[in-house]
Amino acid sequence: MEIQFLHGVGPKRAALLKSELGLSTVSDLLRFYPFRYIDRGIIHKIGSLEAGMADVQILGQVVRSEMQGGGEGKGGKRLSVIVTDTTGELELVFFKGFKWISEKLTPGSVYLFFGKPVVFKGRINIVHPEIDSPPPPGESGKSSISGVYSSTEKIKNAGITGRTIQKLVSEALSIVLPTLQETLPEYVLREKGLVPLSYALRNIHFPVDGNALNKAVYRLKFEELFLLQLSLLKQKFVRSRAACGIPMPMVGEPFNRCYEALPYTLTGAQKKVIREIREDLRSGSQMNRLLQGDVGSGKTMVAVLSMLIAVGNGYQACLMAPTEVLAQQHFANISKYLAPTGVRVELLTGSTGVAARRSIHAGLQDGSLSILVGTHALIEDTVQFKALGLAIVDEQHRFGVDQRARLWSKNPGGPPPHVLVMTATPIPRTLAMTLYGDLDVSVIDEMPPGRKPIKTIQMTESKRMALYNFMKQQIALGRQVFVVYPLIFESEKIDYQNLEKGYEEIVTYFPLPQYKVAIVHGKQTTEEKNFNMSAFVAGRANILVSTTVIEVGVDVPNASVMVIESSERFGLSQLHQLRGRVGRGSDESFCILMTGQKVSNESKKRLNLMCSTEDGFVLAEEDMKMRGPGDLEGTAQSGLPINLNIASLAKDSLILSDARAYATSVLDRDPSLEQPVNAPLLNEIRREKYAVKDYSKIS
Ligand code: ADP
Ligand code: MG
Repeated sequence: MEIQFLHGVGPKRAALLKSELGLSTVSDLLRFYPFRYIDRGIIHKIGSLEAGMADVQILGQVVRSEMQGGGEGKGGKRLSVIVTDTTGELELVFFKGFKWISEKLTPGSVYLFFGKPVVFKGRINIVHPEIDSPPPPGESGKSSISGVYSSTEKIKNAGITGRTIQKLVSEALSIVLPTLQETLPEYVLREKGLVPLSYALRNIHFPVDGNALNKAVYRLKFEELFLLQLSLLKQKFVRSRAACGIPMPMVGEPFNRCYEALPYTLTGAQKKVIREIREDLRSGSQMNRLLQGDVGSGKTMVAVLSMLIAVGNGYQACLMAPTEVLAQQHFANISKYLAPTGVRVELLTGSTGVAARRSIHAGLQDGSLSILVGTHALIEDTVQFKALGLAIVDEQHRFGVDQRARLWSKNPGGPPPHVLVMTATPIPRTLAMTLYGDLDVSVIDEMPPGRKPIKTIQMTESKRMALYNFMKQQIALGRQVFVVYPLIFESEKIDYQNLEKGYEEIVTYFPLPQYKVAIVHGKQTTEEKNFNMSAFVAGRANILVSTTVIEVGVDVPNASVMVIESSERFGLSQLHQLRGRVGRGSDESFCILMTGQKVSNESKKRLNLMCSTEDGFVLAEEDMKMRGPGDLEGTAQSGLPINLNIASLAKDSLILSDARAYATSVLDRDPSLEQPVNAPLLNEIRREKYAVKDYSKIS
């Protein structure tokens, strides 16, 4: 039933509720949960109000009201209402609805006012409080938990208050509850100790008491995470039962030869991951694995050994990197590792010449070329493999979903290649479980021995000269320096100005011929970027000034200093990625976090955390808690809408793990959910909210 048919909702309000809050039906409204609860039994004294308090309720008598402002250059009109209780006076401010409000709030009348105290010109006031009749005598002080609904400016201006929403919800409940369909089978409620949906919906909006609210919240969070996992895992079950993978039963000679010639012993984590990949490759099902490992954890070696298993079984393999420089670096490293095996490897990028390209195409077709490393050039239609058995994608979040999909078709006439996606962006476990619910996840959670810690230091603008002197010292020791500027879409113009100003200044302090400074940013042509980047990688430039384009995997072992300008504007994960660009060689390395003089408390917390740990997973978890999962890098581009009403990936990881394990056990018993008892589940996961794209085909 449409929301419009509720009392007090006409076409106008209905349209607004839809456009602003996404609510169009009565069921939508029931699933629009309060984001917070307050105890309406508590009435604050005016004298005790402080700025920064959450919404408060006061009982006040109107003293007077007057219109203010509205004159030339004085901003908009406002209605100021002074109310009082025994402890003091409070100003209430309204910018709209003057007539209605001044008629209602006549001097001497008493009301309950509800809103958030803020400071304006040194005094506390409340802007657009909700207005309610005072409680009947004897009722005040009685605890009553009441939900607070999120709202928008437009919604408030249309006179739709929290109270209005509550009335609508209450009406919706009385319409829907009598015929409500339970979404979870009875056995699920029993096995997981959950309250029925009708109880949950009633108490999430109008809790009888704290205990009932907790039960309602738990039930609804569990339901949401359980159905999401069920939907993801069901796809995985279907795929693994289809068993259409290329079987690779052997480890093979090339693998063994490379392994024996390794210049170091693998870390325990590398060995563990290679074992997991081996199992996948010989299982007969298609591998779809995400390999997570912090910067420098040694993912390349895992990639090489995996590709050699494919080669040992008579197949080809490819590795796709997001930039030319990275592809070159991979190619150089991989060639080195492959030398003892005699396996042929080539590099294919946008700048590969015609003759080389021809020879590569021929080698791929006749099978004499076993391993191809490259950029997006790899997925062009002209690139045809004889038998591609394994495709590896490095730094996956830089690739578009459809670009990855094209790898899929590169084993003509046979099953699709196995797919390994590597990322250095540590994704918290809870997020990985959801984002990649249908992928298997391997983690390299151990660093190769002998890495020196990176010294991380915060500096403000006043220390800039000291910073430049420090850079000079490091350069005198033969080291190189990164200087990174933020580039945020919304402030792009100013950011470019800052970058250019910073570059000018550095060139002035680090003049030719003694110093060479390279600059890389998004407005350059690919050639310019490659030219500057290569100059720095090859050691011809001492300093690289850039935007965050260098964030992804570039390896410059000789770079020992990472200066991050306006570091307060970066998220933790991004700072961590940037810091990972240094500390790759044997020298002691430094990360300098530059900030302005004034930094928000939240930024301070972030920067302090950066100075205290180098563990990417700790930082990623914190980042998610501070900013919410939607902001995490990688999620925006992943194409997976995580659209949760009540559960939080950051905060409900225990419920999530439980829900996932339980979803697995349900599918173990009934893989396609065809038993009648599971019909409600099948029905629920068909809903848009839980419909997840088939990631097996795109990752
Ligand atoms: P990632 O791609 O995960 O950031 P790399 O594969 O580039 O990391 O490895 C980082 C560095 O560590 C490389 O110089 C590599 O040779 C070295 N390395 C990798 N594995 C080991 C190991 N087990 N022991 C010692 N050094 C290693
Ligand atoms: Mg790498």
